[in-house]
Amino acid sequence: MKIANVIVDVPSSSINQTFDYLVPERFEEVIEPGMRVLVPFGPRKIMGFVAGISENSEHEKLRSIIECLDIIPALTKELLEVGKWLAEETLCLYITAFQAMLPQALKSKYKKEYIRVSDHLETELERQFAGRDILTEEDLGEAQGDLAALQRAIRRGDVEINYIVKSRITKKQVTMVERVAELYKLEEAVADLTKQAVKQKEMLEYFLENDVPVVQSDLLKKLDTTSGTVKTLVDKGLLRRFKKEVLRNPYDDEAFARTVPHELNDQQKKAIEPINSAVDQNLHDIILLHGITGSGKTEVYLQAIEKVLAKGEEAIVLVPEISLTPQMVNRFKGRFGHRVAVMHSALSAGEKYDEWRKIQRKDVQVVVGARSAVFAPFENLGIIIMDEEHETTYKQEDQPRYHARDVAIHRANNHSCPVVLGSATPTLESYARAKKGVYKLAELTERTNGKPLPDVEIVDMREELHAGNRTMFSRKLKEKMDERISKGEQIVLLLNRRGYSTFVMCRDCGHVKECPHCDIALTYHKNSHQLKCHYCSYEEPMPLVCPECDSDAIRYFGTGTQRVEEALTQLMPEARIIRMDVDTTRKKGAHERLLNQFAEGGADILLGTQMIAKGLDFENVTLVGVLTADSMLHLPDFRSSERTFQLLTQVSGRAGRHELPGEVIVQTYTPDHYSVELASVYDFHGFFNREMRMRKTFHYPPYVFLALMTVSHENKIVAMQTARQIVQSLSGAGEGELIVLGPTPSPVPRVKDRYRFQCMVKYKNRSIARGLIEKAIREHDEKVKKDNLQIKIDLDPYNMM
Ligand code: ADP
Ligand code: ZN
Ligand code: ZN
Repeated sequence: MKIANVIVDVPSSSINQTFDYLVPERFEEVIEPGMRVLVPFGPRKIMGFVAGISENSEHEKLRSIIECLDIIPALTKELLEVGKWLAEETLCLYITAFQAMLPQALKSKYKKEYIRVSDHLETELERQFAGRDILTEEDLGEAQGDLAALQRAIRRGDVEINYIVKSRITKKQVTMVERVAELYKLEEAVADLTKQAVKQKEMLEYFLENDVPVVQSDLLKKLDTTSGTVKTLVDKGLLRRFKKEVLRNPYDDEAFARTVPHELNDQQKKAIEPINSAVDQNLHDIILLHGITGSGKTEVYLQAIEKVLAKGEEAIVLVPEISLTPQMVNRFKGRFGHRVAVMHSALSAGEKYDEWRKIQRKDVQVVVGARSAVFAPFENLGIIIMDEEHETTYKQEDQPRYHARDVAIHRANNHSCPVVLGSATPTLESYARAKKGVYKLAELTERTNGKPLPDVEIVDMREELHAGNRTMFSRKLKEKMDERISKGEQIVLLLNRRGYSTFVMCRDCGHVKECPHCDIALTYHKNSHQLKCHYCSYEEPMPLVCPECDSDAIRYFGTGTQRVEEALTQLMPEARIIRMDVDTTRKKGAHERLLNQFAEGGADILLGTQMIAKGLDFENVTLVGVLTADSMLHLPDFRSSERTFQLLTQVSGRAGRHELPGEVIVQTYTPDHYSVELASVYDFHGFFNREMRMRKTFHYPPYVFLALMTVSHENKIVAMQTARQIVQSLSGAGEGELIVLGPTPSPVPRVKDRYRFQCMVKYKNRSIARGLIEKAIREHDEKVKKDNLQIKIDLDPYNMM
């Protein structure tokens, strides 16, 4: 008798355990841990993960598994273990952790079909395929087919599984351009064009020479022009545009120019040494690669990976979502070509699933991806690299609230392989560990091109105000921008937007429009002329008069990117601006399109939020301006100085990476703050020492660990009392293991009509604290289940709001 221990898909803490099911004979040979199965649960049929297999059960009267949803386990044995660890580590349910490790497409049930690849199959299978190339699930079910034989064939690669994902059907299209008028008409048109119409002339000449339809984006690139040129010629009746379908393939491998390894410079050679020796000896070393921007960290990653691949092992490269720009992807595809899978959120569910499957089928050996790529189902990991390790996007804000760094270290331990953490501005936590010798430290202090980092000049905006300049651009910045534009060079302007928004205020009575459901000011969106809430989806039209005093002096304030763009246009009407923020990059591919446009000289100024601070590399950018360097400094977050330092350092690295020297202007109201001052001279070590003293004095990480608990309920009293009770039971527990602060109302005290109270716990021993916290929360399980109370626990929180 075979018993499967199944974690079922019921998100409830009382169900957070395995349930035993009988394995019917038909699945006996096939079933393995990590497979998804369909099981009866009460009156329902639900999905579950096989966590283990045993010979007997303590329970009588077991029910049977209805169906195996996988024939190759969705989770490897190692990932099953990682899932259990993750659930315990982050205090979430097992099922939540398992689901988080799989691509979206596998989270619900999809139809499968089996495709014959080989001419020779086992007799039993031959009978089932019965001359067909594709076997559907229905075909298999009716025949009560031999699943074990099928499983063997899949493992050998004789048969492939195809999951029919919806988005596979939604086909992708490209815009094509072709000639419609007769050739002589094109020749006439060329002759008629004015001298200024160079681009039109070039395009017509192109079609006179190449008389076949062409992908519009390729055409534009080739001729270095915009779609406006095509449109003009379409309007003249000479060309025609049409849509053509393309197969799903997010990256065209052929399009990546192959690159060869650089001969490493002396610093790089020294830095790669501890990595290589860990690779050679299968050591679970953690190496912090601290290297300034442009010092050749990526080249070190590439060469370390090369070594890993030569050993027949695999590599995971984690990068922050926003650095998954084509520029970054190119570097990995360029070196390793078709051996690379790429995972980021802009891919459709189907594309993501395809990339995941390439990993599962061992078609690729390298994955480059954002946070969740740390769960790539490799079984032979040889290295995990985390670029920009200080980035907060590595922390998942929903359950399971994990940090990809912790998962990377745990998995690398499972595989006895090294982890490389790279950054120009490592987190205090990591750098402190490196200094203590827990991690190995490798440092790169020089740029590979031998060029110095750009000069940074701090401008005190208070003085601007005193001098009568009420705009958001200092005289210095304006002067430098004018100069660059006249020379045909480019500018990057960063609006440090956290903590700012465009809110609406009455100038007469000071009334600020707030969301009726959340205690937060509404944000003004110019395009739709609507006021929107950033927490819930509430929106309303911009009022014409103040609802409080009827004054018509109601205006929007603040410095959203739209406002800056308007102000910039007023100040410098001739400047061409590209704005990049969440609004302009929402559509798939918009991010890339805007960057390409800028790279091709389509604008003088790239204006944007944090998303432009990283990874971008433009030859012609010689000036970087930071409009509001200190806007984060006053947030209720103990990391605000660290974040400010990191951002200023990152953005400064964007200028002068090539031949032309760069310059940085940092505007601020707090020019004396150490994070601004030290960033302007690139003094990471000075900042580290200074900030560590602060953390020690005020008991913050890395001197202690933190947990943030948020209790929310529709009734303010209930929320507050529950939070109080939790604080009380924690304060009494654990004999000085914990320092408990609060409860206090959360920085945003009400969201979606729920009142929020929070408390903070500081501790030194993780496992003891986790136990105590879990116990204190379990006391309120009943209220959570019946009374719609929510208790959110965030261990090692990164978002204090
Ligand atoms: P980082 O990742 O530290 O910002 P990169 O790896 O992007 O730095 O390196 C900056 C530039 O230097 C890249 O264009 C890269 O191709 C080049 N580079 C890296 N290593 C070398 C080397 N050893 N010799 C010459 N050029 C190099
Ligand atoms: Zn008013
Ligand atoms: Zn709201």
